[in-house]
Amino acid sequence: MRLDKFLANHGMGTRTEVKQLIKKGSVQVNEVIVRKADYQLNPETDQVLCQGEEVRYVDELFIILNKPAGVISATEDHLHDTVIDLMPEYQHFQLHPVGRLDKDTEGLLILTTDGQFTHDVLSPKKHVNKTYYAELDGTVTDETVDQFAAGITLDDGYRCMPAALKIIKPHIIEVTIQEGKFHQVKRMFQAVGSTVTYLKRIQMGGLELPADLATGAYREMTAEEINRVQ
Ligand code: URA
Repeated sequence: MRLDKFLANHGMGTRTEVKQLIKKGSVQVNEVIVRKADYQLNPETDQVLCQGEEVRYVDELFIILNKPAGVISATEDHLHDTVIDLMPEYQHFQLHPVGRLDKDTEGLLILTTDGQFTHDVLSPKKHVNKTYYAELDGTVTDETVDQFAAGITLDDGYRCMPAALKIIKPHIIEVTIQEGKFHQVKRMFQAVGSTVTYLKRIQMGGLELPADLATGAYREMTAEEINRVQ
């Protein structure tokens, strides 16, 4: 595949824009600057950097879902509807969710056929941040912000990595965590005496839940969106 086509297909700009990037030396293939737009690339094996950022080759299926409450983040379940049941036209693909949201949690959930992507995004070493919007029964203060920043200790004694808490109103917050322990956000608030009454994931890595993706809606992701997650 031509280098300019690869870059344009992966959301790095229009054909004209990516040609300019290539010309000015902003694109490397296997650590060597390439200035020819028609350079023939093996997208599966060559490593491409555009303005210093890796452009990951995408040939797998990636779906972004604004998960509604009431369905579970699994591929099958005997009792409950799963997120896969929401998308009948994709049922014959081997999709799996990238991490879990609780049954009553809404928001950004990625489903993919790409096991390596899932492994990378969930790896604690990669520190892919997850941001949640939460409504609380109870209130938080600046002291809670400091407690979250220092690392909350959960009921089982696990000490969480530092988390960023933004107070929108005393009972409405956004919290960014770096890991994904079981019921983590709910348990972090339990630890400071509050109960989460509504929880929605709004961001993973650099990817925000698109404002035009209604609750329950889903669509295939662009290569640029996929690259933004990690
Ligand atoms: N933390 C929780 O408590 N629940 C979720 O669904 C996600 C993060």
